[in-house]
Amino acid sequence: AESRSFEYNESSQRVLFGKGVLAKLATEVAALGCKAPLLLTTPQQASAVQDLTQILNGHVAGSFTRATMHTPTDVTEEALVYAKTTNADCLLSIGGGSTVGLGKALSLRTGLPHICIATTYAGSEMTPILGETKNQQKVTRVDRAVIPKVVIYDVNLTLSLPTGMSATSGLNAMAHAVEALYAKDTSPIVRIFALEGIRALASSLPGVMENSQSIAFRSEALLGAWLCGKCLAMTTVALHHKLCHVLGGTLNLPHAETHAIVLPHALAYTAPDIPQVMKDLAEIIPHSEGDAIQGLNRLVSKLGIPSSLKALGMKEEDIELVTDNLMMLTFWNPRPVNKDSVQKMIRRAWLGEQAR
Ligand code: NAD
Repeated sequence: AESRSFEYNESSQRVLFGKGVLAKLATEVAALGCKAPLLLTTPQQASAVQDLTQILNGHVAGSFTRATMHTPTDVTEEALVYAKTTNADCLLSIGGGSTVGLGKALSLRTGLPHICIATTYAGSEMTPILGETKNQQKVTRVDRAVIPKVVIYDVNLTLSLPTGMSATSGLNAMAHAVEALYAKDTSPIVRIFALEGIRALASSLPGVMENSQSIAFRSEALLGAWLCGKCLAMTTVALHHKLCHVLGGTLNLPHAETHAIVLPHALAYTAPDIPQVMKDLAEIIPHSEGDAIQGLNRLVSKLGIPSSLKALGMKEEDIELVTDNLMMLTFWNPRPVNKDSVQKMIRRAWLGEQAR
């Protein structure tokens, strides 16, 4: 075997995983030396404020329930002004990537420790990445200071995640792990996390769609989400994430759906240069029959994911714009990004053709 060489950074993050682990919340707050969390969530999950207040016996400093997709800095500023009127000594976010983003943005600005209760499969709670938008511009920074101190994964909280969002958010998670397998800075431990994360999601998401209240399927999907989030935290992303970033930033397409549609296409583009990864994936994605792209295509259609970027509202003339914006970025991909070939791939995703 070739001699190996890699860097590995582990965070000092604490993770609690399991059915009903939310009951340990008060102990976790106390263990951080805190007494008065500021609760953060979205308007859609505002009812969580009462539930958490009850679990914490009323010991909360306040709540801010206007977390918004893509972490706009004006919302963060509003939350910051409000936070200063409270005596909050820590941040407690409950929700998906949007809420986690607000928690990260506030912890960066206040230095307060952040406890996160994750309720989607997006994985942001594992990463040092913070993407913020100001004047329609998305600025991403990587700073280990934004990694939440404690993350709680309680499968009970995922039962209410609508099936459509479970599917797209699950594919978003799988994309983190897929790209981690061929990242320039991949490592043996990333490979273990990635393959197990992809296997767990690919084998449980169809079950979640059929029975969204199944603890067994939900638990497996959440496990996969955690592992895939770890992969995103430990590697540098390539073509798939870069393209989704451009689609989201340029056209404001919805985050999780975009990832779900693009993944088979972006992987098919890179496939010729990553034969071993494709072989590994074909072994863990059900119904691959030796071809991971086929397995992914079948999974995507079984999950009822919107089939095309067109269905998300992208216009045909935007294909060129998106390609140009992508070509302006500098990033590494195992198969070099050639303008013509990548534009053809984007067109296929736009039309909703099967990835190949
Ligand atoms: P989201 O956080 O925007 O959630 C979508 C909606 O679902 C919200 O209204 C939310 O309140 C609701 N919801 C969440 N969990 C629920 C549950 N269990 N039951 C009922 N409703 C629930 O969606 P997301 O896909 O988790 O996050 C997307 C955002 O996260 C994007 O802005 C993306 O850029 C960011 N993200 C960041 C990272 C990172 O590492 N920084 C990683 C992945 C995603």
